[in-house]
Amino acid sequence: MSGLSVNADKCVGCGICVRTCASEGIEVAGRKAHVTDSCISCGMCVDACPVGALSIEKDAGAGADLSAYHDLWVFCEVDDGALAPVALELMAKGRELADARGCRLMGVMGQADATDADANAQALLSSGADGVIRCVDGRLRTNDAELFARWVCDLAETRRPETILYGATDFGRELAPQVAVRLGTGLTADCTVLEMDVEQGLLQQTRPAFGGNLMATIVCPTHRPQMATVRPGVFQANPDAAEKTAACGGATDVSPHGAVEDVALEAGLEPSLRVLGREDATGGDSITSADVLVVVGRGIGSKKNLPLMRELAELLGGRLGCTRPLVEAGWCDYSCQVGQTGVSVAPKLLVSVGVSGAIQHLAGIGGAERVIAVNEDPAAPIFGVADHAVVGDAVEVVGALVERLRARV
Ligand SMILES: Cc1cc2nc3c(=O)[nH]c(=O)nc-3n(C[C@H](O)[C@H](O)[C@H](O)COP(=O)(O)OP(=O)(O)OC[C@H]3O[C@@H](n4cnc5c(N)ncnc54)[C@H](O)[C@@H]3O)c2cc1C
Repeated sequence: MSGLSVNADKCVGCGICVRTCASEGIEVAGRKAHVTDSCISCGMCVDACPVGALSIEKDAGAGADLSAYHDLWVFCEVDDGALAPVALELMAKGRELADARGCRLMGVMGQADATDADANAQALLSSGADGVIRCVDGRLRTNDAELFARWVCDLAETRRPETILYGATDFGRELAPQVAVRLGTGLTADCTVLEMDVEQGLLQQTRPAFGGNLMATIVCPTHRPQMATVRPGVFQANPDAAEKTAACGGATDVSPHGAVEDVALEAGLEPSLRVLGREDATGGDSITSADVLVVVGRGIGSKKNLPLMRELAELLGGRLGCTRPLVEAGWCDYSCQVGQTGVSVAPKLLVSVGVSGAIQHLAGIGGAERVIAVNEDPAAPIFGVADHAVVGDAVEVVGALVERLRARV
């Protein structure tokens, strides 16, 4: 692995590195600098050290023949026999990136039951995949990330994909790091923007950093595959493909243009997980699947105004979401929190009420098709992403809206 190292002969213990470090990755003890577990090898201290005592060691994998790697893979999660929506969202983005790079887009999927396995593969082909690599095996029933990681790594080692994308679902967050460690490559979690540097084949992976106060673009220049996770709702699925798939119920006559290849899981591997029971932590449907969302922020003033906001959501046939301070205040459940540390949403209509539009919140609403924002401050950042701006008091505006909508019911 690469890492920061200290040349003790040169180090004078001046502490400039400690003051430069933003992650508490280095400390001075006994007049010498020591690297801590928090070091992220960003190299800032290396540049700052006045006596050249610090360096970043590159690992042996660096400098491998990157030209041997090709194709972009999307790992497509299957839940209870159905493709996770994020799989189709990533296929749409993957198609765009693969076209820019001039490479093939492959859907990679594993599921326990043969039922729906063909329909799922066809859905990926009709979403733009040039081919599907699939494993149908009863041992995958428990969604054991370790088993999946073994299968994906075996595939990646022989076929050498240049890029792999994963959904940042609970399962994807477990799987992708395991694959990254086994393959000795990098992983950027929770990307909100993905672009391809066509010349170098470098995936530009952008995500919020330093508490969401800036956006960092991360690349993986010396290892392959380059890997990223993306939360559900950040990208949009190709509506044509989704319609085609829905129209034929996922049947196999959807203008297939690629092959489906079955690749077995290694014999002798057994799941280490046993599922004893399932409990839905959200207590129902997630707000991520709602077509209409009313998202409320601190500007609604008081918890007693929540029922009015919920009524607006219901009259519009939608659900209620919120900003983080409302969760912290105990007004709303965490499952309703929209943003960087909550969920990403992609409704057709999002009505934002009394929300300032902090960058950490905006990170979760980029997929919304149309945004109407209500805020009493005309300079509120939320208006920068809104299609329609209503400057006014949250309760007054929503009260008037609810009255009108009630009259129409
Ligand atoms: C690491 C990190 C992660 C975070 N993750 C998230 C996240 O996932 N989701 C999230 O939401 N936040 C997140 N935050 C918090 C985020 O930075 C903001 O603090 C938060 O989004 C602000 O919530 P708000 O808009 O409800 O409140 P405020 O910022 O207080 O804004 C309230 C808004 O209401 C308006 N207003 C006031 N009175 C009225 C009225 N009577 N009528 C109409 N408008 C009114 C004000 O003009 C203001 O714009 C995170 C922060 C950090 C550091």
